[in-house]
Amino acid sequence: MYPAADTATLLIDGKWLEADDGATFPVTAPATGELIGRAADAGAAETDRAIDAAAAAFGPWSAETAYARADVLRRAHDLMLERAEDLAVLMSTEQGKPLKAARNEVRYAADFLAWFAEEAKRVHGRTIPSNRRGHRFQVLKQPVGVVAGITPWNYPMSMITRKVAPAVAAGCTIVLKPAEQTPLCAVAVLALLEEAGLPPGVANLVTTARPEPVGERLLADPRVRKLTFTGSTEVGMRLAAGAAATMKRVSMELGGHAPMIVFDDADPVHAAKGATLAKFLNTGQACISPNRIYVQRGVVEAFTEALVARTATLSAGPGTSPGVSIGPLVDDAALTKVQRQVDDAVERGARLVLGGTRLTEDGLDRGCFFAPTVLADIDETMLIYREETFGPVAAVIPFDTEEEVVARANDTAYGLASYLYTRDLGRATRVSEALRFGIVGVNDINPTGAQAPFGGVGVSGLGREGGVEGLDEYLDVKLIGTAL
Ligand code: ADP
Repeated sequence: MYPAADTATLLIDGKWLEADDGATFPVTAPATGELIGRAADAGAAETDRAIDAAAAAFGPWSAETAYARADVLRRAHDLMLERAEDLAVLMSTEQGKPLKAARNEVRYAADFLAWFAEEAKRVHGRTIPSNRRGHRFQVLKQPVGVVAGITPWNYPMSMITRKVAPAVAAGCTIVLKPAEQTPLCAVAVLALLEEAGLPPGVANLVTTARPEPVGERLLADPRVRKLTFTGSTEVGMRLAAGAAATMKRVSMELGGHAPMIVFDDADPVHAAKGATLAKFLNTGQACISPNRIYVQRGVVEAFTEALVARTATLSAGPGTSPGVSIGPLVDDAALTKVQRQVDDAVERGARLVLGGTRLTEDGLDRGCFFAPTVLADIDETMLIYREETFGPVAAVIPFDTEEEVVARANDTAYGLASYLYTRDLGRATRVSEALRFGIVGVNDINPTGAQAPFGGVGVSGLGREGGVEGLDEYLDVKLIGTAL
């Protein structure tokens, strides 16, 4: 069990290993810049061996009963909840989110283990009446084989269980490459699965500071039959293109540019509360973060006032400090991008109502902190209207009619989450059906859960995670025709 040595963060065939050449990379706390550990910096050779291990483990693991696979996942779920506080502290330190949010994420991560433990037992096939006499059709669902999983830093545990749990439940084996910013969270999750009884080789971990060579091996190897990725649209498109060479199945969970629409029949204060909670969750570093907040003219003033009042109460700091609800941004590049979007909007006529700058007082200069920000009078000419922000900036856009706002909300290549506030049932139904997004929250800022299919359309991705659909992504359909 981990840790054999601090830097033995590769899990290959049930053994915790260092990189072949002993290379490591630093892991730092984004709030303070402090070194909190080192991880093994693996390359192509270690990746190949991880694939070997996953390929060798596939036969026996897929031959286990679904009940046996479910038992392991259920034990992992229970262990995760037992260790929830330690895991949350690790996540808050390594990723930066407030401890309360980290606790929520640990619970969310555990939910995937429990959900797919149950769903493992429900991989039903079917029989289809044939159009011929003396003939039968039967449909089976079988595990796709070895899976490559690549995960991001913003939700460093739940994005792992959202992939590993369904893969393992389906009878697949997996090689996971976590983000270079958060390898220790990945180690913690994999160690817990191992402790729960997952056999060697079923889930393998390759930590690295060099995603390209590792990604290349995962893409090139024909034994890897599926790639599941969460990250930026840009990288996702490149990886999907690479996966095509060996015709791997792909699930892509990419960027978003979520609209939130507040109609004037809604309570603007209630909607502003929801907007604040959704926008500043994870410091805006979420693919479902509302990036364009459309507010109908009649309530825009009341809404903005309530939004500013709530946002002004948010305090920034290291996630492990009490009372903090705004953690650091991931790095300098993120800070630069957010500042650029704010400056551009102001130059083009937006009103900066709150925040707008980096925070440097009281030691915050050691991390990349940006003040919770509210911009009003945003329009189509501004960068923030088109580009994902991934930071704590609420951009308020006035609108007049339902028809207009649906067209404007849909005017994006992204299509992940969308939100609307209205008390009118007819309008809620019309608008949620017209929005071209994979997810719609109706008076709901958290339309997600392990039991519900999460995913986007357009350049936001392919496939779904969670729900019944989340398991299907790891199953091939086999048709058996039998002449009697
Ligand atoms: P983000 O903006 O969230 O950091 P990225 O798409 O850059 O998004 O990163 C998401 C994940 O993709 C991380 O695990 C990162 O290491 C990985 N990644 C980035 N580039 C590549 C690549 N060329 N090959 C494989 N993985 C990659």
